Amino acid sequence: MAVHAHPDDESSKGAATTARYAAEGVEVLVVTCTGGERGDVLNPSFEVPEGHEFTSIDGRRAVRRLEMAAAARALGVRQTWLGFVDSGLPEGDPLPPLPEGCFALAPLEEAAAPLVELVREFRPHVMTTYDPTGGYPHPDHIKCHEVAVEAYHAAGNPDRYVVDGGAAAWEPSKLYYNHGFSMERMRAVHEAMLGAGLESPFGDWIESRTAREIPEREVTTRIQAAEHFSQRDDALVAHASQIDPQGFFFAVPRDVEIDVWPTEEYELADSRVPTTLPEDDLFAGVREAVR
Ligand SMILES: [Zn+2]
Repeated sequence: MAVHAHPDDESSKGAATTARYAAEGVEVLVVTCTGGERGDVLNPSFEVPEGHEFTSIDGRRAVRRLEMAAAARALGVRQTWLGFVDSGLPEGDPLPPLPEGCFALAPLEEAAAPLVELVREFRPHVMTTYDPTGGYPHPDHIKCHEVAVEAYHAAGNPDRYVVDGGAAAWEPSKLYYNHGFSMERMRAVHEAMLGAGLESPFGDWIESRTAREIPEREVTTRIQAAEHFSQRDDALVAHASQIDPQGFFFAVPRDVEIDVWPTEEYELADSRVPTTLPEDDLFAGVREAVR
């Protein structure tokens, strides 16, 4: 179960990993906390699909549902919604207040309740989400972390989140944080691009991140996923309102990427089964336990 904040996050964080596991026969469920209703158009070549509009909350939700369905098909995974409304990325100084009724403002128990129920129904062995910083400071990403951690810990306790007629308690075995944007990866790809005489899109990114002194988090687990990078790219492109096919995510030629960085990275945040670090499989220890 991969828990994400907005439609498109599943395609930019750990996408090839989910495609790989799905191809290997693992049941993969992407859970999207919000409908992405406050996302701006980030692709200059985006055309609003016929019969739709992209100005109202409802209009954006409908378009992004279409995009999400296409991305899930590209990855070969199932996907479902938690049903919360995008908080938007507040900008300015001072930051404006978050919009009423948004995901980030929902009390934790209210925000986590539908995810706890989903965990009890779907019964995942492994859950993935973001680290406590959200990976980047979008309030929905931080909230996504909080609800995923809450659900991971609470779903197995029958005395918590009690629902009449609800599914039985279920305890997932492992919890991971996505770390696809590690500084180590960005530097390696950046160097390889320069070495190949290409323009690197990561120079500014590395500089601003270094300036902000964001501490690097531990990578415990590397998943070989290069064979599924093309599915990841198809899934990204499916989010047509958000992803520019000429932009950041496609600036690195596939052969350079496969050569320099054929893996996706994770941090093991909790495990209820024995495992040895570093790992190359999110299900390490689980396969033995369920056999
Ligand atoms: Zn997001």
